[in-house]
Amino acid sequence: MSDDVSTGQLPVVNHWVGGAELVSTSGRTAPVFDPALGRQSKSVALANAAEIDAAVAAAKAAFPGWRDTSITKRQQVMFAFRELLNARKGELAEILTAEHGKVLSDAAGEITRGLEVVELATGFPHLLKGEYSENVSTGVDVYSTKQPLGVVGIISPFNFPAMVPMWFFPIAIAAGNTVVLKPSEKDPSAANWLAELFKEAGLPDGVFNVLHGDKEAVDGLLNHSDVKSISFVGSTPIAHYIYETAARNGKRVQALGGAKNHMLVLPDADLDLAADAAINAGFGSAGERCMAISVLVAVDTIADELVAKIQQRMSGLKIGDGRRNCDMGPLVTEVHRDKVASYIDIAATDGATVVVDGRGIEVDGDADGFWLGPTLIDDVPTTSKVYLDEIFGPVLSVVRVHSYEEGVDLINNGAYGNGTAIFTNDGGAARRFQNEVEVGMIGINVPIPVPVAYHSFGGVKDSIFGDSKAYGLAGFRFFTQEKAITSRWLDPSHGGINLGFPQN
Ligand code: NAD
Repeated sequence: MSDDVSTGQLPVVNHWVGGAELVSTSGRTAPVFDPALGRQSKSVALANAAEIDAAVAAAKAAFPGWRDTSITKRQQVMFAFRELLNARKGELAEILTAEHGKVLSDAAGEITRGLEVVELATGFPHLLKGEYSENVSTGVDVYSTKQPLGVVGIISPFNFPAMVPMWFFPIAIAAGNTVVLKPSEKDPSAANWLAELFKEAGLPDGVFNVLHGDKEAVDGLLNHSDVKSISFVGSTPIAHYIYETAARNGKRVQALGGAKNHMLVLPDADLDLAADAAINAGFGSAGERCMAISVLVAVDTIADELVAKIQQRMSGLKIGDGRRNCDMGPLVTEVHRDKVASYIDIAATDGATVVVDGRGIEVDGDADGFWLGPTLIDDVPTTSKVYLDEIFGPVLSVVRVHSYEEGVDLINNGAYGNGTAIFTNDGGAARRFQNEVEVGMIGINVPIPVPVAYHSFGGVKDSIFGDSKAYGLAGFRFFTQEKAITSRWLDPSHGGINLGFPQN
């Protein structure tokens, strides 16, 4: 980080290219805030064309050496990175809280889930083994190998500045690729910290590069002929754009989009468990999670009781600076906070009942922070923007239904299909739900069903574009290409001319 002459004393987060800070000369920066203080704390460089080229060129130059580095050596670097990250994760959590606003315990949780993928990636020698068939014809063997793609691009959102990049880069790097990561400009420092740590772990310069920027940097990667694949996570309109553009340019692409996750509560559910889950999944990280529960679908016989239990629990939540042992922190920016808060007015206009209004709550933090307290809105019409839009804040909507069938139809008619949950004590109903619901990740009495690293993460419908989920075996498939080799060692008796199609 260097000092910013254009903004007085504020430091500038610069690019990390070829194993060192690359000081931007683009003349363009974006502000980075401390959301709990409501003040700009840094600026982040926004790349120009030359800087995009420099990052891709560094990754391209490092590729042949890294690809050909022995499996043992690559694995040692992965293990060293895992150890360093585990030992120093507290530092990273503080960076996340200072730029994103999430409370420290939540930041630590994000890092732990990212570490899981690093741990999976340390097992890459087993996961990258090819296959071998002997004697497909007499004296002829066929075998396949999995090879890295080359330079891969990763574009990540603001809400998980450490975990989402870690869904991709540990696997990409373990598999022998070189990376250009374009983090969110809202909380850019975690990416540099991770890249520096990887260097400390022994990763050769140029294997992992961080390019900061906005649409210009993203478009630069999408249109660069040396970038072989794009892994994107963010909102649905941008995911769609990324998918179309990268695919048109002949790249492999996985683009994970937005969400509107429903939690269906049946009459036989444990309502205390369901109320706890709704609070945790609705307001954790101020609702800025793609797996947050934003719609509670309550069967009407238990809806009043459930809403009362949730309301009662909300009154005990401590909102404030993430460094002060609070339950929930601020929103990421003032603009985003105001947008989220505007949905409370829309709800009232559309005839919903605002049970708890998070505006003007008391906080344990600076008065200028980007605060919005947990908000509960009952009887939300399914035609309202409050129901239809991804609000991405601490606003939990309640929709009442008459039956299981009506609840599932509601979920299946939605545009998104990222996560969902059912709360019930009826195993048959749960089994039917997992079979019938058109959603990629399903929780049964589990509110935020983010799969562990050795399964894969991804939704359906408008929550994903492309056919590859993140991490797990899908991650290894995405970041490798297969070659099939048919080999025969010379045996003169098998010579001769035959123009027919080869048969075994
Ligand atoms: P975003 O779409 O605004 O930004 C994501 C990335 O795209 C950032 O790096 C940003 O710089 C870049 N970008 C933004 N506008 C662009 C444009 N016009 N052209 C090219 N690039 C552009 O998303 P966000 O606000 O940072 O993150 C929140 C969103 O991410 C939510 O919609 C959330 O659901 C989604 N998300 C999805 C998942 C998932 O796994 N499905 C996970 C986390 C977040």
